[in-house]
Amino acid sequence: MRIEIDSNSGYCFGVEFAIQMAEDELLDGEVLYCLGDIVHNDMEVKRLTDQGLVVISREELPDLKNSRVLIRAHGEPPETYKLAMENNLELIDASCPVVLKLQNRVKHAFDKIQDQKGQIVIYGKQGHAEVIGLTGQTKQEAIVVMEDQDLDKIDYTRPITLFSQTTKSTKGFYRIKELIQQRIAEAKENQNEVEFKANDSICRQVSNREPQLKQFSTLHDVIIFVSGKKSSNGKALYSVCKEQNVRSYFIENEQDLDLSWFNPEDSVGICGATSTPMWLMRQVADFIEFNHTQLVS
Ligand code: SF4
Repeated sequence: MRIEIDSNSGYCFGVEFAIQMAEDELLDGEVLYCLGDIVHNDMEVKRLTDQGLVVISREELPDLKNSRVLIRAHGEPPETYKLAMENNLELIDASCPVVLKLQNRVKHAFDKIQDQKGQIVIYGKQGHAEVIGLTGQTKQEAIVVMEDQDLDKIDYTRPITLFSQTTKSTKGFYRIKELIQQRIAEAKENQNEVEFKANDSICRQVSNREPQLKQFSTLHDVIIFVSGKKSSNGKALYSVCKEQNVRSYFIENEQDLDLSWFNPEDSVGICGATSTPMWLMRQVADFIEFNHTQLVS
């Protein structure tokens, strides 16, 4: 059996930076709170909580005072910064620069579109931390869409500016863009042209991986995709693998592996999301390597 770990998989620079920041801050032994899971990967969260990181929810934040709180790569809405000032919280801000730039673009577009009663639409997952940070730039007025039925929330007679959560799939974004265009055309009869601006704000750390993974998936008989179940880009990137190779399997860690997926002569590719640590993919590779002898015997 041949096993290869995809060298393009593993942390994006945003996640890498946030984890490094957490590790550095934890060195002094003082309590460090983190607002939400630092990364959508339970194994990595456990590794850091074992070092002293304390994960708290958004609901718990208002009760916290005089403490250090890490902001993860997904970014936060303005309310969090305001609350931190009020409660004397020291924010260790590991917001990804790509997300911060997008927050700025959304805020700028929202301010600009006010006079024409325009709408900001975000293609993303309602309640996802990054989406909360983005809608926070629009006084919660942005319309979040993911499924087709969410498109009913948009008024197609008023200007629309569309953005994407950074970790969504490119295919999904362009599909939503097309559906919005269709609905504008349907609503247009007897009306003036409606302004529609679509901004593909998917992070290139995610979209560039799609073609790379497509190719990687065709090079192996079996693909093992390692990711946390809560990871948005994990779901998007796994679907890219599955489309190319029907023998693609999604696992969180080696415990999810089923040896019946493999034949002794198979070539196995291991890959993952932007939130999948390289150590975990190696652990999975070692497990398969160690256990594949059972397939031969
Ligand atoms: S996927 Fe892109 S935007 Fe998201 S944390 Fe990574 S580098 Fe930043």
